[in-house]
Amino acid sequence: MTSPPKVRFAPSPTGLIHIGNVRTAILNALFARREGGSFVLRFDDTDLERARDEYAAAIREDLTWLGLVPDVEVRQSDRVALYEAAAGALKAERRLYPCYETSEDLDRRRRLQRARGLPPIYDRAALSLTDADRAAFEAEGRKPHWRFRLNNTAAPDQTSPRPTEVAWDDLIRGRQSVDIGSQSDPVMIRADGSFLYTFTSVVDDADMGITHIIRGEDHVTNTAVQLQLFEAIGAAAPAFAHHSLLVGADGAALSKRSGDLSIAEFRQSGLEPMTVASLAALVGTSNAIEPHPTIASLADSFAFDRISRAPGRFDPKDLELLNAKLLQTLSFDDVSARLGALGIGGDATFWSAVRGNVSVLADAATWWQVVEGPITPAIDDPDFCAAAAALLPQDPLDETTWKAWTSAVKGETGAKGKALFMPLRKALTGLDYGPELGPLLPLIGREKSVARLSGNAA
Ligand code: GLU
Repeated sequence: MTSPPKVRFAPSPTGLIHIGNVRTAILNALFARREGGSFVLRFDDTDLERARDEYAAAIREDLTWLGLVPDVEVRQSDRVALYEAAAGALKAERRLYPCYETSEDLDRRRRLQRARGLPPIYDRAALSLTDADRAAFEAEGRKPHWRFRLNNTAAPDQTSPRPTEVAWDDLIRGRQSVDIGSQSDPVMIRADGSFLYTFTSVVDDADMGITHIIRGEDHVTNTAVQLQLFEAIGAAAPAFAHHSLLVGADGAALSKRSGDLSIAEFRQSGLEPMTVASLAALVGTSNAIEPHPTIASLADSFAFDRISRAPGRFDPKDLELLNAKLLQTLSFDDVSARLGALGIGGDATFWSAVRGNVSVLADAATWWQVVEGPITPAIDDPDFCAAAAALLPQDPLDETTWKAWTSAVKGETGAKGKALFMPLRKALTGLDYGPELGPLLPLIGREKSVARLSGNAA
């Protein structure tokens, strides 16, 4: 029997996450859940200058709010000993080799290569350094950066292209093949000793037994290098699934910097977590975009072959519509505590009267105000309203009152359609739009209705 899958979401805590990042997180979480596997949250925080604890905390809060609680959480800054050990072994085998070029040296060489019509690939000059050369650099106080020697030495002349295809079967994109012959040996350790993500990620994925890497297609080229790294450290490579990236309504790539798309912002604007989770999980898939009640229900809809290769289009307006749709499916029990916390009273009758007319839960406050009062009635024709008030049945009012009452008003005044209903709505609610008045009228009650029809705030 194969062991259950283990996946990870690996954000760099250098900013707030947006819907595109959440999409990666949720696809991982749904796959884990669907397959009975586990979901790891890994903070890629080796970039000491940019990584911040407060961003890690914000990402954790966003995921918790969305119901994507990880089974395990790790941070790369706690795991440096592991990277040192793995790097030590690769240094001993010369798969990692020390380089002393400055960025000016490298720029100069690239210019020369271009002038000679050669691709600007690192020429591996450092591989020919002798112990004495290295000792001389060290004596000058120079610290090496370390490159990973790619397995692409097919051509003996190292400055000519070194074609080597690295291929894998991507669970979303199908057969992939990347020519790493056109790539320079990538730097894995900076001169200050800090590790690059490409390396630490592989060491962690191998150490933690990650079985599937589900991430954005901006990592496809990294994957080719990382497949060679897995091989170099003697670990079996996980399966890969690269999803397309989201674009905004204008077709432009989403950016981490566009704060208006942060999850924190969505939360503050009062959207339901399952609205955001549903959109993040379903955009760019062949599944219909509709609100799901739970993460478990979204997990049931997950399949790699339903994830489209074309970019998913994200329009914040879709969130509003989806949220309104989701609220219509919620029962009073689902929302009563939160209505209370928002200072909105009312019972199940109130909620079922108004839930079709709210985009976010807090909008129910408008209708609670209409029920409770006081509101300022809008009266265009006082005589019509006075006639209607005189015809309003005695207490108790119920859901059938509206129909009986408006027929009577129609009989008496001859008004019908909009000319009948709109003046009543405006008098009773102060607004020219809103929920059906049948259920609302008994909630407002006879006394306030009569007062409002007479033009009094009530
Ligand atoms: N820290 C990387 C990123 O945020 C993780 C990529 C990966 O999933 O391997 O892009």
